[in-house]
Amino acid sequence: MEKELKSKGLLIVLSGPSGAGKGTVCASLRKCLPELVYSVSATTRQPREGERDGVNYFFQTKEEFERMIHQGELLEWARFVDNYYGTPRGFVEEQLHNGKDVLLEIEVQGAKQVKERFPQGVFIFLLPPSMKELRNRLKERGTETDEVLWERLQAAREELAQIHNYDYVVVNDQVDAACDRIRSILMAEHLKRERL
Ligand code: 5GP
Repeated sequence: MEKELKSKGLLIVLSGPSGAGKGTVCASLRKCLPELVYSVSATTRQPREGERDGVNYFFQTKEEFERMIHQGELLEWARFVDNYYGTPRGFVEEQLHNGKDVLLEIEVQGAKQVKERFPQGVFIFLLPPSMKELRNRLKERGTETDEVLWERLQAAREELAQIHNYDYVVVNDQVDAACDRIRSILMAEHLKRERL
């Protein structure tokens, strides 16, 4: 196993199936916790309408992504529905070292890798209120073809099976309420660490 990372800030991992509302919750967290730093992931997926390179993701070719893997530039990476996704490590390590709290919004295989290297991280799993609601949200989003939608539903079932690897489960029944719950978790984690 690689050496564990030491840091001053909190490393927060937010996972949950596509359709749980991670994007919406993160957007709302940006408003209520402006000091939180968000890691921008690299991906080989095609940009969706309105997504910008360097803001939503670093959109890369498969070759560029594989080069980053081989050069050890990623904190974690995974294949998800036929694309690569990964967290550039330099930025995250620098921010943590400077005492900032950093949020990674990543899927479960990547979260598992982060936990191995960073067991003191805060691992939060976001749940939709029900599978029916998850299906509705994915459909309403309308960003995926039927085939990709089906694959994402399959992936959702597999992701739910990993829920035991997380420290906290937050139900996203209402975005503001979910944000408040996450904010409370982070406050508690800070207090806990100040006492240690
Ligand atoms: P989407 O294509 O919907 O933007 O993301 C698909 C899945 O990949 C989501 O569950 C999202 O959280 C996850 N994801 C985004 N960035 C990363 C990353 O850097 N690493 C990993 N492992 N998963 C990521």
